[in-house]
Amino acid sequence: MDADAAASLVLEHTPILSAERIALVDAAGRVLAEDIVAAASLPAFPSSAVDGYAFRAADSGKSLRVVGESAAGRPFDHAVEPGGAIRILTGGVLPAGADCVVMMEDVQLSGDVVTVPAGLKPGQNFHAPGADLRAGERVLPAGVSLGAAEIGLAAALGLAELPVGGRPRVALLSTGDELVEVGKTPGQGQIPDSNRWALLAALREAGAEVRLLGIGPDEPDALRQLVVEALAGADVLVTSGGVSVGTHDLIKPLLESLGDVHVGRVKLKPGKPFTFATLPGQKLAFGLPGFPVSSLVTFEVFVRPALRKMQGHAQLQRPTLPVRLGYDARATADRTEYQRVTLRREGGELVASSTGSQSSSRLMSLAGAHALVRIPPGDHGIGTGTMVEAMILSLP
Ligand code: AMP
Ligand code: MG
Repeated sequence: MDADAAASLVLEHTPILSAERIALVDAAGRVLAEDIVAAASLPAFPSSAVDGYAFRAADSGKSLRVVGESAAGRPFDHAVEPGGAIRILTGGVLPAGADCVVMMEDVQLSGDVVTVPAGLKPGQNFHAPGADLRAGERVLPAGVSLGAAEIGLAAALGLAELPVGGRPRVALLSTGDELVEVGKTPGQGQIPDSNRWALLAALREAGAEVRLLGIGPDEPDALRQLVVEALAGADVLVTSGGVSVGTHDLIKPLLESLGDVHVGRVKLKPGKPFTFATLPGQKLAFGLPGFPVSSLVTFEVFVRPALRKMQGHAQLQRPTLPVRLGYDARATADRTEYQRVTLRREGGELVASSTGSQSSSRLMSLAGAHALVRIPPGDHGIGTGTMVEAMILSLP
């Protein structure tokens, strides 16, 4: 199946999890589930932007009697009369009667008389009510990621809890008799289970709550038992390895027996054996290829957007940018290829350099890569200087 068709199919089958309410302390990285509409304007009162004196702009250029003070949180309770002024501090409420503030540095003070410069206009040096945002305004749309500014905004509006999309619970399983726990010395023909840790990091970055199932053997019954047990408490199963067509590749038949396999092979490099199934209870299963780069590239192309959809993100895909190839590439017949590159800026453009051998076992091709450039299928060279689309992982 075509890679784009497979990606669309995955999203079609991906449910949006039910929303929940959470306290601000847990909000970072979550996805807002409903629009936030301001119940009140900000600031709620006319608030001084500087330390200085509040008075009537009509009294500019005069000597005024200082009749009181308005500090942050401690308002002056009376009106300012013509010919009067009050000392005001940043964040202090502008009292009735006053319509401007002059900075402390710009006045002359003698006892309780302040001489203010001429030419001040109403509205100067304070924030009018609603200057930052108005009651009734939609301040945050559903689907945004809650970062520092968004959480700060919610807090400024007095919201102690926010409605957020549910976090997908993912069960993560590595398969293969050659795998050993990282930290143990591999025996003859054995390798450390590196995919578990790479995928755990990728899953967490994508907002998932991960349960590690460890290493599953290349043995159908044991594998089945592990998976069935894990699915009870999970929305998504992610496996790596065991999806090609070797005799020890048990994931596809297992998923076929548990649910419906929608994708069993994609025209994608790396990642041809990528497998996707839906399981009873609106659960998803992703059988990622075992080769470390293949598992992470298929994660990027298929799994990450699905996890984002489940959480209610408006933006499912990584950003893409046109970049100029800084090396000679060759398209692969009948397969879309994602080549790993670093980027550099050159005369207002982004230029891509290959990270070297693009072997699907070579994690060095992905470590430190800024982007995956998309090489459409074909049987031809794509020369240095060609513009291609890049899925941006980070910018230099
Ligand atoms: P498979 O898809 O099971 O045929 O595995 C393809 C290749 O990926 C083999 O060389 C495996 O040893 C390797 N591989 C599979 N699973 C892992 C893993 N968890 N960590 C590192 N390499 C793996
Ligand atoms: Mg295997």
